[in-house]
Amino acid sequence: MPRSTIARIDLNALRYNYRRAAELAGDARAMAVIKADGYGHGIGDVARALQDEAPKFAVACIEEALAIREAGVSVPVVLLQGPHSPEDVDTSARENFELVIHSDHQLPWLAATDAAPVIWIKVNTGMNRLGFSPEQLNGVMAALADSGAASGVTGFVTHFACADDEQSTRTAEQTDCFIRATAPWPELSRSLANSAAHFREEQPMYDWTRPGIMLYGGSPMIGRLGPDLGLRPVMTLEAELTSVRTIKAGEAVGYGGSWIAPGETRMGIVAAGYGDGYPRHAGTDTPAWVNGQRIRLIGRVSMDMLAVDLTAAPDAKPGDTVELWGRHVSVDEIARHAGTIGYELLTGVTVRVPRVCE
Ligand SMILES: *Cc1c(COP(=O)(O)O)cnc(C)c1O
Repeated sequence: MPRSTIARIDLNALRYNYRRAAELAGDARAMAVIKADGYGHGIGDVARALQDEAPKFAVACIEEALAIREAGVSVPVVLLQGPHSPEDVDTSARENFELVIHSDHQLPWLAATDAAPVIWIKVNTGMNRLGFSPEQLNGVMAALADSGAASGVTGFVTHFACADDEQSTRTAEQTDCFIRATAPWPELSRSLANSAAHFREEQPMYDWTRPGIMLYGGSPMIGRLGPDLGLRPVMTLEAELTSVRTIKAGEAVGYGGSWIAPGETRMGIVAAGYGDGYPRHAGTDTPAWVNGQRIRLIGRVSMDMLAVDLTAAPDAKPGDTVELWGRHVSVDEIARHAGTIGYELLTGVTVRVPRVCE
C-alpha cells in the first residue's frame, strides 16, 4: 500500500475558476498562467484541462512551455521572461511560443535569425523588475523595425506591484503610465491584469488578462480567502492519521517540546511534514480538518509528520484522512498561519506527494 499522503487535483474547479476569470476580464481575453508546474498542480494536467477554454497560456521559461507541448497541447504559450539565448528565439518560432522582450540584450538575438516569433514588449511602469521604461519604447520599436522583427510585435505588457492591496493607488498609477506610454501604437494589444487586478473595481482590462493564482482557487488579495472571492479550491492536500494517543497534562509534544498539554489531551500524528511541502512555520492552532470537524496543529511540524489536537474530533481514529488544506480549510488560512502566501504553499508541495486528478 502506498503512503496515502496525496494532493487531489479537482480539474472541474480549475475550469470553473478559469471561467470566472474570463467573466471578470469582460471584453478582454484571459491567458491562463500555468508557470511553476501549474502552481504546483502539474503543468501537463492543467494544460490539458484548460486547452479548450484558454486561448493562450503563459509560463516563466521555455522548459515549462516545452512541457506543455510534451503533454500534447498546441495552444500558443507566452514566455513571460522571454528568450534566455538566441536558440530560444528559433525554438519559440517553431513551437508557437510568444516572447516577452524586456531588455536590450535580447534585441540582437531577434536580429540574428530568420525565425519570426510573436513578440510582446514589456514596459516597466513601476515594478522595477523587468521591462523597458516608457522613454525607451520608441528606440526599441525602431531597433525591431531595423532587424525585420517589427511585424512579429503583437502587443505590450506590464506587471502590477501592489494590485493585491485594496488601499493602494499604485495600480491606477501604473495603469495610467502604461496607457500613456503605449498610446502611439493603438493597433497593438495591451495586457496588464494579474489575478488581483480582476478583483479591482474600475480596473481597465484592455485586450489580454493574465490570471494565475485565482485559477487554482487561491486568493490574490491581502486579507481575503479564495472562497470569499467566489473561487473553488483546486488542490486538496491529504494525509493519513497514523497514530492516536492520549497524553497527560504537562507532557510535551514534538521537537523542542514546544507544546505542553495543559490537560489530558487526545492527540494524533498525521503522515505529512515539511518534506512534503507543509510549511514548518505553521505553528500551534493552524487548522486542519478530519471527519467533518476542524482540528488544530500542536507543536512543531517535522519533516515527515505533524501533531494535531483531536479534542474537537473525538471519533477520529488511525487510518482516517486528514485534510491539511483544500476544500474545507483554505490554503490561504494555512499561509496566514505560516507567515506566507498561498502561492508559496501550492508551488512548494514536493515530488514525494503524488498528484491525483479528479
Ligand atoms: C506570475 C505572473 C502573473 C500571474 O500572477 P497571479 O498573481 O498569480 O495572478 C501574471 N503576469 C506575470 C508577468 C507573472 O509573472
